[in-house]
Amino acid sequence: MKNTNIYLDHAATTAVRKEVVDEMTIVLSENYGNPSSTHTFGRMAKNSLELARKNIAKQLNCNAQEIIFTSGGTEGINLVLQAAVRDLKINRIISAKTEHHAVLHTLEALEKRNNNIIVDFISIQKDGSIDFANLTQLLSEEKGKTLVCLMHVNNETGTILNLERATAICQQYNALFFSDTVQSMGKLPIDLQLIPIDFLVASAHKFYGPKGVGFVFIRKKNSIQSLLYGGEQEKKIRPGTEPLPQIIGMSLALSMAYDNIVSEKKTIATLKKYLLQELETHFLGFKINGSIDGIDNILNVLLPIDDSKTALILFHLDMKGIAVSRGSACQSGSIKPSHVLKEMLSEADLKKPSLRISLSHLNTKNDIDCFIQALKTI
Ligand code: PLP
Repeated sequence: MKNTNIYLDHAATTAVRKEVVDEMTIVLSENYGNPSSTHTFGRMAKNSLELARKNIAKQLNCNAQEIIFTSGGTEGINLVLQAAVRDLKINRIISAKTEHHAVLHTLEALEKRNNNIIVDFISIQKDGSIDFANLTQLLSEEKGKTLVCLMHVNNETGTILNLERATAICQQYNALFFSDTVQSMGKLPIDLQLIPIDFLVASAHKFYGPKGVGFVFIRKKNSIQSLLYGGEQEKKIRPGTEPLPQIIGMSLALSMAYDNIVSEKKTIATLKKYLLQELETHFLGFKINGSIDGIDNILNVLLPIDDSKTALILFHLDMKGIAVSRGSACQSGSIKPSHVLKEMLSEADLKKPSLRISLSHLNTKNDIDCFIQALKTI
C-alpha cells in the first residue's frame, strides 16, 4: 500500500484542472486588457469575458445576461439575500439551520439590521433533509413577500434537496426561491428552463476551478442592484474590474465538469461503495450522518471510536498524511460541534467522532485503503 499525502477533502476545495491552469496562464500573459477599455486589448478581453458568460449560461440552460460574476459563494449569497430584501421588498425569509454560515450569518445580520424582517427555519429530519410538509405549512401562513433559501447539496452531509419539489411549492405560494448550489454545481445537472428557480450561486474552487471567483444566476424578472458602489461592470450589479483569468478558468472548469460528469460520477460512486464496505468491515456499528442517497462525493460518518479521541482524530489522520474534515472546513480542528450535525444527532452522538470524507475522480482505492489503515491505528 503506497502511502503519500492523501486528499479526501474535496468538499472544502479542489485542485485546479491542468487544462484550466494552462488556459489561465495564457490569459494572464496574453489577454490582460481591461474588459471596460475601448481599445483592442480591452475589446479582446471583453469578448473573452462574454464568451465565458455564454458558456456558463449554456451549461445551465439560461440566458447569458442572467449570469453575474462574483468573487465566490460567500459574496454571491450576501448579494442575493441582502439585495432581495432591499430591492424586491422581501420581508420574510424561510431557510434551514443546516445552511452554510454564509447564509446563516447573513440572515442574522439582516434580522439585526431590519426590524421588519422575519426569518423562519424549516424543521430538519434525522437524515438532514428538510421537512417539505413544514415548508408548505410555513408558506401557507401569510407573513408578506417571502424568499425561500435552501441549499441544493449540504456541504457537510451531502444531503440533496429535491429542487423541482422545492420550486414547485414556492411557486404555489408565490414565494421566490434561492438555492446555494456551491456544492452541486458541476456535479449534478441543473436545467434552469425546467426548474423555475429565481437565484442560484456557485464558486469555481469547488469544481476544479480557481479560487476567488464564482457567479450568481439572477432570473431576469428579479431586478436587484449592487451592494457595492463603483463602476458599471456586470450590469452595475457587481462593480469592479472583472478577473478575466479566473472567469475563463471557471468557465472551462464548468464545461469540463459537465462534459465528464458521467465517467467521473461512476468513478466516485465506485469509490464510495468501496469506502462503505471497508467501514463496515473494520468499523462495525458506524453510522452515516445523512442518508445513503446523498451526493456520491460526500460521506459523513459517525465512528464507533471512543469519545475521548474526538478532538484529536483529525490531527492524527493529518500526521499520517490523510486530509479529511470534521464537518465544514471552517470548523476543522475546532472541537465545537458542527451546526449541521447539531440539528440531526443526539447530544451523545454529537460527542462521538464524526468525519466528512469527500471524494473526487482523482482518488483511488489505495487512498481509501490508506485512510482505513490510518483510522484503525487511532
Ligand atoms: N456554500 C456552501 C454550501 C459551501 O460549501 C461554501 C464553501 O465552503 C460556500 C457557500 C462559500 O463559498 P466560497 O468559499 O466560495 O465563499
